[in-house]
Amino acid sequence: MVNTSVKKGLITLESDIRYLKGVGEKRSLALREIGIEKLMDLLYYAPAKYIDRSTVVNVASLKRKWWEFSYKSNAVTFIGKVVDKKTLISSGGRQILEVVIDDGTGKLSCTWFNKIEYFKRQFEIGDLVAVFGKPSVFKGRINIIHPEFDFLTEADSINIHTGRIVPVYPSTSKLKSLGLNTFKLRELINFVIDNYIDHVEETLPEGILSKYGLVPLKFAIRSIHFPETYDELRLALKRLKFEELFFLQLLLARKHYELKHFEKGISFKKIGELVHGFSKILPFKLTEAQRRVIRDIWNDMKSDKPMNRLLQGDVGSGKTIVALISMLIAVDNGYQSAFMAPTEILAEQHYVTFLNLLNSLPVKVRLLIGSLKPKEKEKVLGEIETGEAQIIIGTHALIQERVNFKNLGLVVIDEQHRFGVMQRAMLIEKGYNPDVLIMTATPIPRTLALTLYGDLDVSIIDEMPRKRKVKTEIVPDTEKEKVYEFIRSKVKEGHQAYIVYPLIEESEKLDFESAIENYVRLKNEVFPEFNLGLIHGRMPGTERQEIMLAFKEGKIQILIATTVIEVGIDIPNATIMVIESAERFGLSQLHQLRGRIGRGERQSYCFLIVKSSLLRKTSNDALFEFEDVEESKAMERLKIIASTLDGFKIAEKDLELRGPGEFFGTRQSGFVKFKFADISIDKDLLEIARREAFELIKQDPNLSKPENAPLKKEFLKRYSEEVNLAKIS
Ligand code: ADP
Ligand code: MG
Repeated sequence: MVNTSVKKGLITLESDIRYLKGVGEKRSLALREIGIEKLMDLLYYAPAKYIDRSTVVNVASLKRKWWEFSYKSNAVTFIGKVVDKKTLISSGGRQILEVVIDDGTGKLSCTWFNKIEYFKRQFEIGDLVAVFGKPSVFKGRINIIHPEFDFLTEADSINIHTGRIVPVYPSTSKLKSLGLNTFKLRELINFVIDNYIDHVEETLPEGILSKYGLVPLKFAIRSIHFPETYDELRLALKRLKFEELFFLQLLLARKHYELKHFEKGISFKKIGELVHGFSKILPFKLTEAQRRVIRDIWNDMKSDKPMNRLLQGDVGSGKTIVALISMLIAVDNGYQSAFMAPTEILAEQHYVTFLNLLNSLPVKVRLLIGSLKPKEKEKVLGEIETGEAQIIIGTHALIQERVNFKNLGLVVIDEQHRFGVMQRAMLIEKGYNPDVLIMTATPIPRTLALTLYGDLDVSIIDEMPRKRKVKTEIVPDTEKEKVYEFIRSKVKEGHQAYIVYPLIEESEKLDFESAIENYVRLKNEVFPEFNLGLIHGRMPGTERQEIMLAFKEGKIQILIATTVIEVGIDIPNATIMVIESAERFGLSQLHQLRGRIGRGERQSYCFLIVKSSLLRKTSNDALFEFEDVEESKAMERLKIIASTLDGFKIAEKDLELRGPGEFFGTRQSGFVKFKFADISIDKDLLEIARREAFELIKQDPNLSKPENAPLKKEFLKRYSEEVNLAKIS
């Protein structure tokens, strides 16, 4: 149905994109898929990159003045026609794509070392193209490695030498097939800016703009697409980043406010018999950090506002005891406590730990996991319902419909990043505004914590019960025998070892070493004199439990494992960890794995086995040495792991290397998907945005002051579904 008022030209920035001249029904559907629904969304469609056509040079002049273009030279643009493309083989045996471009004064070669097939498809002989990058001279020819590029039309080339910075938009193959390539997008955006920019309303208060030197929104939008200079682009970007961060922080500030002001929680009255009894039998003295955190938690639990606290602490910092004491407080006050762990192995282990620690106290601890026998499960479900079960440890099984608590008072969620927001909510809803303690051993860089968990209160255990003694070494796979010898000598002295493999079965595509295959080999050929065990994720829960128990009791001396042992497993006598194909693992994963050793008094050892080619210096192939991005990243990861045990340092690096989207996998990344901001870089901006947002909500929680009206409008536009509208308007 066509809206006639639209036909008359009454299109606004809020109008459906299909009414925009040159879009229409079909294209609008494709645009919708990339999140562009209204004209306004087009203005916020961020360029993927820019090509600086203000610095166009030609090959001949560059060759003449080569001495001005050392390796440190700036990036420049060449414009020419594609005259050749071919795949070469480097002296190191690696594939290289070369695309040759002729600009009329000479030839330029562009080379790619990765995604060769992809790039090869992009270029056709005869294409007119602008390439942008740092030139070098290789074998007498000007060369750019992995240039940025942009295809031009003949019409374009006429205007090209007027020189400007040109935006290049990300496009999908579907968009391209409908003619919406980067040109067309550029045209559309240009049209919307020319005709509608005056309708863009400022979203931030004047006070904040001037305080932080932020440019007005109109200017920012124009300049993010068509900047006159790089300085302008920087200003535009800063403004748009800030806006994004600010409104998210405003949401978090508002949520925090709502929780503290609208919700009534449980006010726990006393520290009772169980806690006192437990403190008497505690086998060690709590660290200062543990005490501080328990005080934080007790203060929250006393209060009639619901607790919503994140407990961060590196592996081995002693979070489990803190959680246990909190749960005992709830039980002392007549409530039940639930503890949700991400895997059955962990739930089982916590269950055993809690049983051991609490065996002399009058408290009923129960385990609820999927692999319980039906009869057993029914029994536990019954006890949860009557309240007989006081502390319930479990997995996702806890949030199933059939689980009914009598009076759930405290929810502890272990390894929060393994759960979705929904799962967290589902467990919380099993009680009536229970207190919530969320624990994570994955140290989260502050910026990410403020983004993902910015509405929570945070406690950090920043002190280890004891210094961990772990030596870490990177070992080429050609020297594995030495590691085996080392294991042999240590196991003879009574130590235990883990050997970790990335996958459980040989995959056709990836030549990972498989745990199962290697288990057989190690058992029969390498360590016939020892008891070996195998544990992996596809084993039935009961079998895994038996194996872990046997390892804990020392009956198994060397445990072959996949990453199922990643978090939480606590066996102090295991002092050696070998990680096979270590280059395949991520930083956090390596840190978590290594967290399984160094848990006792004795010196521990971690060996990171990597394919030897990764360590080989390719001196005669210098140009290519750092060009394999994946390999150099892998090496960087391993060097970081070998250099520190500090989980927070590692997490910061991880965020830098991987970027926020991938940091936690896709599960929670929706929340951190910014168009402009990048929280691994924009730390300072985030801190400012947070401070201002929280201050604003403190001063004007309902955003009802007149000067906050524009801001409120934008806030509700972005987040109306997430905040309590009735209470804000
Ligand atoms: P996390 O869950 O934070 O990784 P755990 O709670 O499993 O760490 O604690 C690691 C080990 O340190 C456990 O064996 C635990 O019993 C022990 N531990 C915890 N707190 C202390 C403490 N204050 N003093 C000595 N040992 C402690
Ligand atoms: Mg733990």
